[in-house]
Amino acid sequence: MRIVLLGPPGAGKGTQAKVLSERLKVRHISTGDMLREAVKDQTELGIRALTYMKAGELVPDDIIIALIDDTLRDTDCSQSFVLDGFPRTERQAQALDKLLTVRKMPLDMVLYLNTSPEVSVTRLSGRRVCANCGINYHITNMQPKIDGICDSCQGSLIQRPDDKKETILNRLDVYIQQTTPLIDYYQRRGLLKECSGDLDVEALFEALKSLFEEKGLLIA
Ligand code: ADP
Ligand code: ZN
Repeated sequence: MRIVLLGPPGAGKGTQAKVLSERLKVRHISTGDMLREAVKDQTELGIRALTYMKAGELVPDDIIIALIDDTLRDTDCSQSFVLDGFPRTERQAQALDKLLTVRKMPLDMVLYLNTSPEVSVTRLSGRRVCANCGINYHITNMQPKIDGICDSCQGSLIQRPDDKKETILNRLDVYIQQTTPLIDYYQRRGLLKECSGDLDVEALFEALKSLFEEKGLLIA
């Protein structure tokens, strides 16, 4: 099973990708998470990516495509994966097609989480993440048991630098300019399935489940 999650920042791609990858027992590939990890470890990739990420701009295609190429070489994503945050430009989508064609493993579905800008902004501006384990919280929708402390590992909750108001608006703009053409791209290939990203976590998961059922796939 090979799936792409498409939608604006704040659509809930990361949250749903995590659940889907657990339920379907497939690898969750998040370019955002990989880049943040690289920034934390101060690798060459992290150092190159940081300025773009801080500004809410896209990291250049060549860097991201090389990262995905490497990742797909890992044996545990050789057959099945959920892609979250990639592709984000038409060039990335074309590169992905090429990488998957040579491996004879075409995509099964592109799940488009159609999300209103108001919902995206509210989710991103209220998001807090654990500095230690990376779990997401939200100041009103998903509060931790103790203010500012991660339920799972007691790490401190921080705001991602790119979740500041000015950067959020730029990320949405970048999404509209560079990523929305992919809706059409995958529609034309007959791969696109759409649902509302405005739904809350459980309702959205149920909606995604029905999209799988339309393809004859049951998620337990
Ligand atoms: P979100 O979807 O909430 O914006 P991500 O965690 O997916 O956040 O990505 C964070 C940042 O990482 C992006 O703003 C961008 O700078 C960089 N990034 C992630 N994926 C890509 C990609 N496929 N192409 C270019 N840049 C990317
Ligand atoms: Zn934690």
